[in-house]
Amino acid sequence: MLHQMNIYGKDRVQQAIERLQTFEPEEGYYLAFSGGKDSVTVKALMDMAGVKYDAHYSVTSVDPPELVQFVKTFNDVIFDYPTDCDGKVVTMWNLIPRKRMPPTRIVRYCCKYLKEGNGKGRFVVTGVRQAESAKRKGRSGLELGDTKTSKREMLDPDNPSQELIHICPTKAQRILNPIVDWSTDDVWEFINEYNVPYCKLYDEGFERLGCVGCPMSTRQESELNRQPKIKKLYIRAFERMIEERKKAGLETDWKTGEEVLSWWFGDKRKELK
Ligand code: SF4
Repeated sequence: MLHQMNIYGKDRVQQAIERLQTFEPEEGYYLAFSGGKDSVTVKALMDMAGVKYDAHYSVTSVDPPELVQFVKTFNDVIFDYPTDCDGKVVTMWNLIPRKRMPPTRIVRYCCKYLKEGNGKGRFVVTGVRQAESAKRKGRSGLELGDTKTSKREMLDPDNPSQELIHICPTKAQRILNPIVDWSTDDVWEFINEYNVPYCKLYDEGFERLGCVGCPMSTRQESELNRQPKIKKLYIRAFERMIEERKKAGLETDWKTGEEVLSWWFGDKRKELK
């Protein structure tokens, strides 16, 4: 059994199950499912909790093919294609020319179009964990966004990093992060203990899965070299982007998609210094 105990002395698994059962909405949860280790953990916990939910995978167009194949093995996961306000499917390949610049560490417009905005009006469950990234350190167990007042409650009143309830006036959404305080070891221990299926890329040394070529990744260049088809699609999108910049009368020193790609890697190296 999972040996880690939480601050209330309860088993982490039991605590996550209770969180899910406590807040279960009548219409069921909307599970934002990425296919990563945290997502498969939360999905398994939801099954163990016996709560009603529908799982959704947002087709980013830049996930590793191995991950997409893995997600397809779940019969109950719905593939959602991001669309714009005209109903046109949005992909990284049409987004880059439209935005007339590559996504960067500072301007990550692609997240907004490809990953966020799903589950509007629903009670969303995610596999977000505080330990996963610095950005997520402040994420709470429950984020509520349908009131005009801002309110926070903590899992542990003496530990401000463990918010239980966050009522955000700007987000019209309720979000439950049932494993927000789990460590990476907790996740792997759970997956091994309960034989939860996971994407084979983890066995090839990947610690995190997601968009290939993400400007936030420290392995952007090597990820793209590993996926030559996706690399080619970026280069083509950059070429269309150059055309769009010219049409809009924007200054550009880039002549080819390869030049943009090399700037992109260089830009990243610069930003990381
Ligand atoms: S490439 Fe990175 S920044 Fe863009 S959608 Fe994917 S995770 Fe977000």
